Amino acid sequence: MKVTIVGGGLTGLTVAYYLGHAKPDWQIQLYEQAPRFGGKIQTQRVDDFVVELGPDSYLSRKTEMTDLVTDLGLAETLVSNETGQAYVYDRGSMHPIPGGSIMGIPTEMMPFVKATLISWVGKLRAGLDYFKSPYSLDENGDVSIGHFFRYHLGQEMMDKLIEPLLAGIYGGDIYKISLLSTFPHFIQVEQKYGNMVKGMINAKMSHQKAGVSKGAQGAANVGDVPRAGKDTMTDAQFANKQAAQSISTQTSGAMKAAKGTASQSGMFRQLMGGLESVINAIVEQMPSNVTLTTEALVSNISYKDFVYRFDVNGQQVTTDMLVLSTPPATYKAWFTDDAGFDGVRNMEQSSCAIAIMAFDKSTFDGELKGSGLLITRKTDTPLTACTILNQKWPQTTPDDKIVLRVFIGKPGNDVVERYSDDELSEVALNEIQRIMNFEANPEWIKINRLIHCMPQYNVGHRAAITAVRDHVKEHYPNLYLIGTPFDGIGIPDGVKQAKELVQRL
Ligand SMILES: Cc1cc2nc3c(=O)[nH]c(=O)nc-3n(C[C@H](O)[C@H](O)[C@H](O)COP(=O)(O)OP(=O)(O)OC[C@H]3O[C@@H](n4cnc5c(N)ncnc54)[C@H](O)[C@@H]3O)c2cc1C
Repeated sequence: MKVTIVGGGLTGLTVAYYLGHAKPDWQIQLYEQAPRFGGKIQTQRVDDFVVELGPDSYLSRKTEMTDLVTDLGLAETLVSNETGQAYVYDRGSMHPIPGGSIMGIPTEMMPFVKATLISWVGKLRAGLDYFKSPYSLDENGDVSIGHFFRYHLGQEMMDKLIEPLLAGIYGGDIYKISLLSTFPHFIQVEQKYGNMVKGMINAKMSHQKAGVSKGAQGAANVGDVPRAGKDTMTDAQFANKQAAQSISTQTSGAMKAAKGTASQSGMFRQLMGGLESVINAIVEQMPSNVTLTTEALVSNISYKDFVYRFDVNGQQVTTDMLVLSTPPATYKAWFTDDAGFDGVRNMEQSSCAIAIMAFDKSTFDGELKGSGLLITRKTDTPLTACTILNQKWPQTTPDDKIVLRVFIGKPGNDVVERYSDDELSEVALNEIQRIMNFEANPEWIKINRLIHCMPQYNVGHRAAITAVRDHVKEHYPNLYLIGTPFDGIGIPDGVKQAKELVQRL
């Protein structure tokens, strides 16, 4: 059997690695258009800094990635994030994310009542949800995150808490993103209990019955990339998920453990050598029946009589089996005469840029609180979030330095597309100085511009993807579509899809 994998990001490499081991007599070829493997995962070393230009960690409760890291012999190098209070910046003022909330949804009365972020009117409006009945979902059982939570908890809760927390993950428009494709458990809770307040009170009670400690309940953290799952969860799964997702909000003081220890406190994982150490290891340990090629652009894919034909840098190649692990836009140039792929090729993709800036501690004149901050969309700035890397990931930064990782780009603001790298550096620095109230200048700034990098799981996503998959199943034997357009946008989601495919094969 001759197998071709298109895309040398982590998802494609994971298919190649496990399939190569499982089928030693198959000839497996992987093509990557870029000069390097890894796709969005890109780590650079700058002096003693470990700089992530793309993703900076993964959610540990999604065990597939940790399993892969272990298989590659890198488990010893895993580190968890330091936990700390996260903040929301809203139009001139900074507020702690209220404790006892799960992804912005309050589960405890007192921290929510005391929260400075939400006005009394906003709190009252959220409380009135207790008397609401379920939202009328569309014919696919779907609704946007924005419409759902605005209906239940009101506009202020949406703007100040839920949108910064949830929209930041997808980098998109919260009034378009599908709840069914991103956080389906909220629909299940709402349908079961009638509204979110009753649902969260019940979830909280099941926490207590299950003995989840108070310290383990808290706000979701900056940078969480939860699974955009296919199935709604059972109550037990949901309760476990909540427990796993929570972080302590009571550790805003001293950062604890020594650098680089894999303490169990944080819910994210990283590797001492950065995420790209996984890419290097998987490439090095690739079984001998797998051939990996970079600078190999795949185009003109067509299918006839159980054979796939395509061009690699203009040269025609054939294969018996084809695995595509590329972003949605690639389908615009493939199977162009077949509307059955429209559901994937028409997916929107949002853009963002990341500015990473390093400061000398001795010259830094601001106050560094907790792990970072999220910025409300109503705040007049193109910035959406900032992580304080030396406090969240101390192993990435020399002791005498401070590193801020600033996210730029939100719906309706096109600076990421329009500005040069120098202009993006300038805007990121000026804006974060204003927001965090400091004047120090960085020793260096790195910009990574990611145009159309994040597939948008808009309302109807699940139905559209199911239609594409059904079409492929019927008309394209031995063609497999995986990766970020399909079952989740996070790193472990890609690894999971890759492993499930190998298992099926
Ligand atoms: C800014 C940002 C931050 C993120 N942060 C996190 C995070 O903190 N945690 C997390 O879990 N996830 C995060 N993600 C998501 C994470 O980056 C992805 O889940 C993961 O990298 C996807 O890997 P992949 O292999 O599926 O796709 P990609 O990494 O996109 O790889 C696809 C590959 O296909 C190649 N390709 C495309 N077209 C062709 C062609 N025609 N021929 C040959 N090759 C082709 C591309 O060059 C690319 O290398 C983030 C994403 C972004 C954009």
